[in-house]
Amino acid sequence: MSSFDFDDWVFIDKDEQHVKRERKKARELKKTQWWHNLLNKGICHFCHKKYPATELTMDHLVPVSRGGKSNKGNIVVCCKECNNLKKYYTPAEILMRQLEKEEAERSSNSNNGEDRNQNLLEEE
Ligand SMILES: [Zn+2]
Repeated sequence: MSSFDFDDWVFIDKDEQHVKRERKKARELKKTQWWHNLLNKGICHFCHKKYPATELTMDHLVPVSRGGKSNKGNIVVCCKECNNLKKYYTPAEILMRQLEKEEAERSSNSNNGEDRNQNLLEEE
């Protein structure tokens, strides 16, 4: 928990093989004592409430589909409620990023516009 090494739990060149491999690893991790200990503790990573093991699911902090790895640094216990909330958030997050990108493109265009305005001013 002390050291945080991003490269250790995120695979940047994500691809189909990566998703398959990490999903398989996640299934295998569910059989481990480590995972069972987490379930027995029963604390949701997001809302910090205590739940019975049947109410908990495995969740990746960085989704496998976005290059996240199935290892102990990226896997958390998550209650079903928070898991559902995350599903709503994820597309919104993607949308936000898209808007930010468009915003950045717009502002670079408007910078060009400013340049043009300045030229006009000089002509006057
Ligand atoms: Zn929760």
